[in-house]
Amino acid sequence: MSKTLRDADVIVVGAGLSGLVAARLVSEAGQEVLVLEARDRVGGRLLSAEMAPGVILDLGGEWVGPGQQKVGALARHLGVKDRPTWAHGEHVLIWRGQRHRYTAQLPPLPVPVLVDLAQGATRLGVMARLVPLTAPWRVRRAPKWDSTTAETWLAHNFVSLGAKDALRLVVRELLSAEPDELSLLYLLFVLRSTGGARAALAVSGGAQEQHFEGGAQQLALRLAGTLPGRVLSGSPVQRLLQDDKGVTLYTEAHEFRAGAVILALSPPLCSTIEYVPGLSERRQELVSRMPMGDVIKVLALYEEPFWRAKGLSGQATGDEGPVHMTVDASPESGPGVLVGFLTGRNARCFTAASPKDRRAAVLACLGRYFGPSAAHPSAFYEKDWGEEHYSLGGYDAHPLPGALVRFGTALREPCGRVHWAGAETAPRWCGYMEGAVSAGERAAEEILATS
Ligand SMILES: Cc1cc2nc3c(=O)[nH]c(=O)nc-3n(C[C@H](O)[C@H](O)[C@H](O)COP(=O)(O)OP(=O)(O)OC[C@H]3O[C@@H](n4cnc5c(N)ncnc54)[C@H](O)[C@@H]3O)c2cc1C
Repeated sequence: MSKTLRDADVIVVGAGLSGLVAARLVSEAGQEVLVLEARDRVGGRLLSAEMAPGVILDLGGEWVGPGQQKVGALARHLGVKDRPTWAHGEHVLIWRGQRHRYTAQLPPLPVPVLVDLAQGATRLGVMARLVPLTAPWRVRRAPKWDSTTAETWLAHNFVSLGAKDALRLVVRELLSAEPDELSLLYLLFVLRSTGGARAALAVSGGAQEQHFEGGAQQLALRLAGTLPGRVLSGSPVQRLLQDDKGVTLYTEAHEFRAGAVILALSPPLCSTIEYVPGLSERRQELVSRMPMGDVIKVLALYEEPFWRAKGLSGQATGDEGPVHMTVDASPESGPGVLVGFLTGRNARCFTAASPKDRRAAVLACLGRYFGPSAAHPSAFYEKDWGEEHYSLGGYDAHPLPGALVRFGTALREPCGRVHWAGAETAPRWCGYMEGAVSAGERAAEEILATS
């Protein structure tokens, strides 16, 4: 088939938050930009849908919190309002079959477990502070830490089974992967990148503190609105050819030519494109060792947030699962909404189950946290990100043990005229919306500095 050719100064591949931020900056600097997006929508891992009349909820990225200035500033600029996540009332903990209600910052775990956890967290915090955010592979003990899995470290550094299980739960919820799939070095980097597990997992004072009215995908939709005619959806890039003068990108039906390209995709998606000439060995080795995490997001809707009347916050944690953490994601008015995640091995296991069995397991779990009413929502939604061809999983990609030290330098290093964006390339809030925005800004600055 003969292909039509379209030119631009800069082409951005991927209309997620990162790609759109990069495209807008390049465009504002006076360069002609095109964005090629595989899906028939923008937003990538941001996906908001109307789940009840006038009730728009997030099936992907949702919350922001303190320390995430860039995404906050972007939202304000685009006129997307945020509002606090409901956080009043007692939280629920189910641990070893016992249900507890609590308001303190620390969950009511047995004292020896809390002491064990505190000393482990202190050691992790001390080590994390040594890890340079832009080059974690440079810390003196990087070779050892990168060849040690998080599981091996926690197995040897906690005394009690309770503390080990609690940290396993935290790592799984934080990274949607199992501690035996992650290196200690990467865990330390993430703790440094986010300001610690509490900052990343908490609602009040943490990364779940606010959410966007009308859904987080609005950020992408409004950014795309600032680039009229420049965002071409339904355009999966299959091949990228670089020569002395520029780059040619091939989709099924079209060819595009530009002076420079920003790939705003997660590393595993980058490896679905054919590169001519091939990329550096380091880059190829890195992306082949950076799988996505596994996550299924579940949302249960009720006539009203009934748990509030019982004095509950909607936040629950438990060792039994399959939903190990929940948050009240109810809109300002309308139904009550509980959100939870199946992550890591749990997600993989439940991907294989039937929707009916999955729903039954999730609702039984919500019932244990919040009482029988929770097991009977008026509506139930789920989104398995592993089934999304153009995401391959979520929340984000993580390097396998050993990959950071050997190949980490290839994460952001441009390959000729090809520059890398995407949330996974951000030193701060790596894997989050905040990281996606800062990575888009950095990639745009790289290009503008060379043109
Ligand atoms: C369930 C879930 C919950 C999350 N919760 C939060 C949260 O509460 N807070 C938070 O900050 N973050 C959260 N995240 C992470 C956040 O959503 C991501 O960090 C962010 O959206 C990533 O943006 P991005 O632009 O880097 O990548 P993406 O959003 O993945 O964008 C990449 C784009 O590239 C496109 N693409 C792929 N292949 C091709 C190709 N060959 N050619 C052209 N286009 C292609 C994709 O379709 C996609 O649009 C969550 C993620 C998930 C999945």
